[in-house]
Amino acid sequence: MEFSTQSLIRFGNNDQVPTVSMKARAKINLSLDITEKRPDGYHNIKTIMQTIDLHDNLVIDAIGEGIELECNSSKVPCDDRNIAYKAAKLFLNKYSCKYGIKHGVKIKIEKNIPVAAGLAGGSSDAASVLIGMNKLFDCGISVDELMAVGKLLGADVPYCIKGGTILAEGIGDILTELPAIPKVYIVLAIPKIHVSTKWVYENFDFNKVNKRPNIDLLISAIAEGDIKLLAENMVNVMETFTADRFSIINKLKKKLISLGALGSLMSGSGPAVFGIFADKTSADMAYQEMKCDDCHEDYHLFVTETT
Ligand code: ATP
Repeated sequence: MEFSTQSLIRFGNNDQVPTVSMKARAKINLSLDITEKRPDGYHNIKTIMQTIDLHDNLVIDAIGEGIELECNSSKVPCDDRNIAYKAAKLFLNKYSCKYGIKHGVKIKIEKNIPVAAGLAGGSSDAASVLIGMNKLFDCGISVDELMAVGKLLGADVPYCIKGGTILAEGIGDILTELPAIPKVYIVLAIPKIHVSTKWVYENFDFNKVNKRPNIDLLISAIAEGDIKLLAENMVNVMETFTADRFSIINKLKKKLISLGALGSLMSGSGPAVFGIFADKTSADMAYQEMKCDDCHEDYHLFVTETT
């Protein structure tokens, strides 16, 4: 997670409190397996997550009191239902007394990550708020503690705090750092359909899965920096449900492969589909091709890279 301290703002009592800017980056799943349904209704998963450069921009200012939220997207709630708001509330409740925080915060979100796409946009915003407020109020809270707090907001939040190339197990919150993969270029196509994560999990049927990822093979491909082996062996078991219902997912995967992607997969519960390209030129060319495709109005398109 990247932040910069931008400027100083002045309060009535002449305190000077910095304002922080954050890049809340999206993630893709380089593979995803669901290992079991737990008695509490959650699913245990085994997934390799990768941060990409596509990001929301957040600015967090200290204000007199309370929490204010502004967002440029009509697709997310701009009130206490927003996960960024919830993160700020949790932070203030937990740490105001301990660290003598006497201010509230104003959070501005410029949303660039498509919403409910399988890219963890909301979780990344929440992660940025926790990291940003820690910096803003100079609390010095450790990353591990922030991750434990983040887990209270959502299973993907601890990952978004840590970022990078990571194996996530349990409900997605047991994290093992993997070696960073060599930089690759990503073309992302997000079909204009609504897919809720809850709906996919509720309807997921283990009996319909005919291909599971070989996570050990993928981890050794990552250790060796072998992008081709990694890309060619990516599997997301959630495609058995989502791609089955929405033919555009397999169509986009095939298109990306035909345009030179080393591998292509749906991210998370979808519907975002990505293709991995070894170099920027081929990614840019695939992006341009897809922009002119007959069906280009059926999806949003981005070209980005791993970070
Ligand atoms: P994941 O990959 O973790 O399943 P996602 O990318 O599929 O996440 P999000 O973009 O995080 O999904 O959005 C999920 C839901 O959360 C949406 O219905 C959205 O309205 C709500 N939401 C609340 N706050 C935010 C936020 N700051 N950004 C995005 N969505 C938010």
